[in-house]
Amino acid sequence: MLKKIIYVVFTLLVITSFLFPVEELSFMPEKSVISMDIRDYRDFLKNNPPLDRLYCSGETCFFLVKDNKLPEIAGSGFPFQKQNLRAPTASSPQDSVNGDYHSYLETESELYDLEAQYPDLARVSSIGQSVEGRELYLVKISDNVTQNENEPKIFIVGCHHAREWISVEMPLLFARYLLEQYSNNSQVKRAVEGLQIYVLPILNPDGLEFSIRYYRMWRKNRQYNGDFSWGVDLNRNYGYKWGYDDMGSSAIPYNETYRGPGPFSEPESLAVKTFLLENPPVGSISFHNFSQMILYPWGYTETLTPDDVEMRKIAKKMSELIFAVNGRSYSYGPGASTIYPTNGDSDDWFYAACGTFAYTIELPPLSFFNGGFITAQEEIDRTFAENLPALLYFVNYFVTGEGGDTIQKTGPVKSHPIPGRSKK
Ligand SMILES: [Zn+2]
Repeated sequence: MLKKIIYVVFTLLVITSFLFPVEELSFMPEKSVISMDIRDYRDFLKNNPPLDRLYCSGETCFFLVKDNKLPEIAGSGFPFQKQNLRAPTASSPQDSVNGDYHSYLETESELYDLEAQYPDLARVSSIGQSVEGRELYLVKISDNVTQNENEPKIFIVGCHHAREWISVEMPLLFARYLLEQYSNNSQVKRAVEGLQIYVLPILNPDGLEFSIRYYRMWRKNRQYNGDFSWGVDLNRNYGYKWGYDDMGSSAIPYNETYRGPGPFSEPESLAVKTFLLENPPVGSISFHNFSQMILYPWGYTETLTPDDVEMRKIAKKMSELIFAVNGRSYSYGPGASTIYPTNGDSDDWFYAACGTFAYTIELPPLSFFNGGFITAQEEIDRTFAENLPALLYFVNYFVTGEGGDTIQKTGPVKSHPIPGRSKK
């Protein structure tokens, strides 16, 4: 009898786990999008907790709510409309929404597939968890991948900003290219053997999923700010010159460039800090879109860094290599004077804390009028093709010390002098 009960309970558990996959249980309670008149919402707030606001259009605001909260909202007496939007589920995959662009789970399986295919060259790990508990996956690519060799480190990261979907694809494609071409491309072989390359395709997985499932234009992470607003701009949350001024970041939580309550307040940026202090890279690239630019420190001030000449030379070369492929022109220069001032961004902190030659590549299109943040999936391959020669040049620069001996081939990162810091 007891055996029979155990058997039945076990069978039920197995069936239930198919009906309610773990991913949905932990991240995805059923949710709906509702709309409400902004005046009603203001009154609603007097006696009710705030709703997760997606955006407002004219007098109408749209909110994301858990289905089990709908009766409560209805009970408040304020009129609202349920929109015809539904979160994708495990049984109705997101392919129709994000097309060839990778979601969090698609990226996860791609990384593990690469590791399985190239066990001697690729190793997947996680440097921490996001606000909602997703892993911040990293793949290390190197010969003798399981060992920490005395070789320079490179860090390549995508998706600080959720809506910049193509910024996930460049790191992923580059990782795949390095692994697939290792045995037949000498430039690749040299880089993989002479470096330890760390690729983190999605720094902001919660935001990315939110952008895929609910609101395409979401930018920040998914931190609740405690004041009716969600999200910290991860690329304003790093600790060097954090909050330097209100031009380069915002102190206002609902703003798109909100820097957070303190430097490294967010688990995502904090995980990068911890990882990079243990593994200081000589070079890094952070992908964003849009505007076709190659940027490097400083972002917070127009004062030039002591390494400006060398960093400019590298950027110029990358820009030329990109142009040679498709004839698309990427401008380049220090962040503050080339795009706009930013403080608390990744490049400034990487350079200040680790001495990294830290670059941001703003991918196409050129402007808002060419699509802005929204890129066609047909653009993925074309954009990767035009960036590939620049990426190969970039990583190889650190193997050879080409064009100068500022970077040591092996050993600790050379410390670059920073204004206001004594040189030791
Ligand atoms: Zn961005």
